[in-house]
Amino acid sequence: MPGSAATYDLGRLHGGLRLDARKAESTSTQIRTPPLPRQLILPIEQHVGGPCRPLVSVGERVLKGQLLAEPPGPLGAPVHASSSGRIAAIEPRPVSDRHGEPAPCIVLECDGEDRAAEPRGPQVPYSDMAGDALLRMILQGGIVGLGGAAYPTAQKLIQATACDLEYLVLNGAECEPYISCDDMLMRERADAIVSGARILLHALGLDHGYIVVESDKPDAIRQLAAALTDAAEDRLELTVIPTIYPSGGEDQLVQIVTDREVPSGGLPTDTGCLVQNVGTAAAIHDWLQNGEPLISRITTITGDGITNPMNLRARIGTPIAELAQFAGGYTGSARHLVIGGPMTGRSVSTDQVPVVKATNCILVMSEIPPAGPELPCIRCGDCATACPVRLQPQQLIWYARADDERAVRALGLTDCIECGCCDLVCPSHIPLTYSFRVAKDRIRAFEAEQARAERARRRFEAREDRLQREQQEREAELARQKDQARKAGPDAIADIMKRKQRDGD
Ligand code: SF4
Ligand code: SF4
Repeated sequence: MPGSAATYDLGRLHGGLRLDARKAESTSTQIRTPPLPRQLILPIEQHVGGPCRPLVSVGERVLKGQLLAEPPGPLGAPVHASSSGRIAAIEPRPVSDRHGEPAPCIVLECDGEDRAAEPRGPQVPYSDMAGDALLRMILQGGIVGLGGAAYPTAQKLIQATACDLEYLVLNGAECEPYISCDDMLMRERADAIVSGARILLHALGLDHGYIVVESDKPDAIRQLAAALTDAAEDRLELTVIPTIYPSGGEDQLVQIVTDREVPSGGLPTDTGCLVQNVGTAAAIHDWLQNGEPLISRITTITGDGITNPMNLRARIGTPIAELAQFAGGYTGSARHLVIGGPMTGRSVSTDQVPVVKATNCILVMSEIPPAGPELPCIRCGDCATACPVRLQPQQLIWYARADDERAVRALGLTDCIECGCCDLVCPSHIPLTYSFRVAKDRIRAFEAEQARAERARRRFEAREDRLQREQQEREAELARQKDQARKAGPDAIADIMKRKQRDGD
């Protein structure tokens, strides 16, 4: 029945921790909209995949929603202007995914008029579009996964269509402490989420989906149930799960809801499930129903270093310093800026970094209690008990530190979701997650280097083949000319010899 909620237990999830949620501070007021900033800073790489190619030049005037940069290949998402104005610069600026180090950005000086480009979005209703046309249209909206991973949505959907899909799973299990942007979105825009979910069902040709929410979000559950009833939508099942970290991980969510285990090194689509964040579904609705590409997002600004924690609808590109000011400014104790949550976020060195499509939370903290001194592992096994992926962190750390790539692969390092549960329970204060992140980065760098070397080898071989072919063609041509000359007499031979000397052969 539309709007009724099924409840699941967590017996299917291994490990995990019950953490202090700390979300009440940022959910006591409605989502607020800050004023248009003077300048928007738009990194050309806000997604998984290579950086986009700018399509505008310095000095050019642009309109809100205008395409500014397009992806270089199939993996990527275009970048649009979040408001109208003039391109002031295309230059490196500090960005959050490099911890505040600079990366190429398009700097847009806003004119304050916020004039939109026309026409935008699809010109026909989505229900009249075939699945593949709909997927191409989603690509043009610049939409990426808004849960924090920023994987290009169209690409994820295209890859999913090649699999034997059964279920759409909408992820509203916002399990990491402090982050509340999905909760507020579900409370205030449940209809947009349901609409986006229906578009996804149509694009993928599915007839069943789940919207999964944790039980500590009663308002969100109520609003989603009402939206499903209003839409008379019985293909979507509202599913309530107990609150535990990290139930919102894609693989963990699939396991809880369907009791299917994502294989090691695999994806949820290997189990017939496609997982999308609820914010991504709302962004798909905004683009396909309202013609608004992904130029803003809800982000939580919170922590004991912020005067008035809240959720904001922020334009992509807004400097974080301006959002902090809108939220009442920093408290006297503010010391640390983290983009993302306390478990998986990144520390950044400056508040001049802009909000990007992946920015779900801006966490400003006073003192972060220092971890105790690292002690030897006492083989208590608590880390393995807490690990939601059933890894053996106490063994992994040994091989990760020894840089033994074969052993860490065999122990499943690449399946580690870097959730930080093992760190929290370790009585010896061993920085397990950090070591795993470093080891994974090393493996990725090694693989990238191998791929580069392979590409260079192929280029070299192709060049050698071409040179050899050209040489053979030259020799064949010379032989043909000699043959002709032999038949024509001595003058022709002298002529060939002269030409040969001239060409340096
Ligand atoms: S960080 Fe990795 S190893 Fe540690 S608990 Fe999470 S998934 Fe397991
Ligand atoms: S929790 Fe820490 S001390 Fe206990 S087994 Fe794991 S790494 Fe060793």
